[in-house]
Amino acid sequence: MYPFYNRGTFVVVALHFLGVTSVIDRCLPGESCFPDNPVILNFGKSLDGVLLLPYMQEYTEVVVTRDVVWTKFPIGIVVAKSTLDVQRSVLFAQKYNLLVSVRSSGHDFLGRSTAHGSLQILLGNMTKTSMILASPRNPAGEITCESGNTWLKVYEEVDKVDRVIVGGSAHTVCMGGYTLGGGHSPMSRTFGLAVDNLLEVEMVDAQGRIIAANDHMTRIQHLNGSVTSTNNSDIFWALRGGGGGTFGIVTNFTFKLHYPASGVATFDCSYPIVRSDETEIGHIVLKKMVSMLQNLPTEWGGYLIGSGTPNADSSWGSIMLAMNHYGSYDAPTRSYMDELKNFHPEWQQYCAYKRLNTFLEYESTPKDPPYVSTYLLNTLMQEDSFTDDWIQYIFTTLATKLPQPGIVTFTGILIGGKTSAVGIQETSVHPGFRSAVMSLSVGIVPVGENITGLREKAAEMAPQLAEYGNGQYPNEANADLTNWQNKFWGSNYHRLLSIKRQWDPNNFFTCRECVGSEDQTSSHAHVSDNHGVVFSAEMNKT
Ligand SMILES: Cc1cc2nc3c(=O)[nH]c(=O)nc-3n(C[C@H](O)[C@H](O)[C@H](O)COP(=O)(O)OP(=O)(O)OC[C@H]3O[C@@H](n4cnc5c(N)ncnc54)[C@H](O)[C@@H]3O)c2cc1C
Repeated sequence: MYPFYNRGTFVVVALHFLGVTSVIDRCLPGESCFPDNPVILNFGKSLDGVLLLPYMQEYTEVVVTRDVVWTKFPIGIVVAKSTLDVQRSVLFAQKYNLLVSVRSSGHDFLGRSTAHGSLQILLGNMTKTSMILASPRNPAGEITCESGNTWLKVYEEVDKVDRVIVGGSAHTVCMGGYTLGGGHSPMSRTFGLAVDNLLEVEMVDAQGRIIAANDHMTRIQHLNGSVTSTNNSDIFWALRGGGGGTFGIVTNFTFKLHYPASGVATFDCSYPIVRSDETEIGHIVLKKMVSMLQNLPTEWGGYLIGSGTPNADSSWGSIMLAMNHYGSYDAPTRSYMDELKNFHPEWQQYCAYKRLNTFLEYESTPKDPPYVSTYLLNTLMQEDSFTDDWIQYIFTTLATKLPQPGIVTFTGILIGGKTSAVGIQETSVHPGFRSAVMSLSVGIVPVGENITGLREKAAEMAPQLAEYGNGQYPNEANADLTNWQNKFWGSNYHRLLSIKRQWDPNNFFTCRECVGSEDQTSSHAHVSDNHGVVFSAEMNKT
């Protein structure tokens, strides 16, 4: 009946085998509601981009998500080229009652950007940008980027015109989910979160309308071509932290640009946790490092990183501050880190400043692998979170025995500074972000193919970590949380849910632990599970 569904046939059989087609109320291949082949092929021809179907070689390559533990099998992947392609895809999915998944890079740590049996709308090929170098709403100018741009590409573009922008540390992460979840940056302590720098968006909503929204207006381009405007900016507020895959598909983001500082420096300083003579120094070092964060000048941003693996010199583990200074090398703020440089130099594995010229030069250095497999847990740490009990938790965590070969690491992304200068209701991120000094994520990274039990281990470890802080970052959290609404959005959740119900009452857009996903009927709950739970045992791995 569907001759092109070679690999898709496997999907359909698997879905039936798992009993899903009988319970979800979105249309799947094999059901009478599903569009015939010619209809699907004609839809593909209507696009500026392409529609990849499971029998095609490119589908096999593209279907693998960047976080490979979450790869799933959509019924087709729209490789969109334009906002109109996104609109066409939404209208097609609405007409045939298809489940939709939205993907920019596919890096989501909870697998929210893919789903079995969905029509996947992939924005990774939408990479246009345009800049204005001085604008009435921001003297240093602004840049508009399609959602498929990676941060490295945008850093390179703005550097050419002598500007900087608040974006992610990774080279392969895209604007979309990063920004909609909040977006922290090596420069957040100087300029705030990505959502604090967002000026405007263009979005396709669940009805296929094209929306332009900023903090004082929302303009709707209706399907009949008419345009209406209102000064209600609820949807813009919701998009500034309420998460991806929820309110609509954002095709363009407009961000503030900033003038570059007169210099950039890095400071990396690492110590083992247990020295080769078996002395445990980790507790003393970690305490010293977190004390350095108390009065940290806002020019400094960066990361507190730990891992629990053996070192070549028979010492064990490492704790590191990997810092970046945004300002002149001669500024007094730069020498703030001297105190750590002079702290037990005989214990250090490495400790040095490096003088750089530009933020791009700093950003060009770290290289993230294009594909990862990681299970995360997270908490937002406030000043009073760094107790002795927490320090003990960190070392116990790094030494955790995993059910399969894997590495346990932690990364604390330093926030505070300008991030704390924004009111708790100004954006929709968890209010805990505004008093946090660090977003702390623990990662379990499988070594090799066997991931059995690692996801469960991460879920088991998540509650205790959460107790140290207030709130969790939805983009770097655990996939199996209870009460995620409160953990991700706190007192902002109520307003987010009411905006979701207003803009997308039927949950056309849905994903795991996303605003409104609890509204789904029991049959819809399986659609939500389809973003990862039901199939975890058999199909998380390809
Ligand atoms: C190596 C690495 C480094 C990272 N570094 C940082 C960092 O420095 N700072 C930080 O804050 N986070 C960081 N993250 C986390 C990152 O924010 C999340 O992985 C985020 O989900 C990535 O967004 P994406 O659009 O690239 O991913 P995707 O998986 O494509 O999308 C994530 C979610 O957003 C939705 N979505 C994507 N695009 C759109 C869109 N245009 N409109 C509506 N919904 C959309 C998807 O449906 C999904 O729900 C990092 C992740 C990795 C893997």
